Amino acid sequence: MAYVITSGCAGVKDAACTQVCPQDCIHDAGNQFVIDPDECIDCGACVPACPVGAVYPEEDVPHDQRASIARNRDFFL
Ligand code: SF4
Ligand code: SF4
Repeated sequence: MAYVITSGCAGVKDAACTQVCPQDCIHDAGNQFVIDPDECIDCGACVPACPVGAVYPEEDVPHDQRASIARNRDFFL
């Protein structure tokens, strides 16, 4: 399990989440930021830091945003 950044990040990309992540596992993927699922320790610190509510625990990602799970993971393959 890991946290996932959804498409709400695109267009904002203020990097606020990267400032609070203790793992430095949030990276700029171009159109949005993404979380490395192998490095994320599920601390949840990035959730309140995001001004647009774009970050979710994987199991709570809304159904219309499920593609974000692969978008985050595949960036680090
Ligand atoms: S849950 Fe914690 S470790 Fe994972 S991306 Fe967010 S701040 Fe980083
Ligand atoms: S805080 Fe939210 S909007 Fe800002 S870069 Fe992180 S996920 Fe994107």
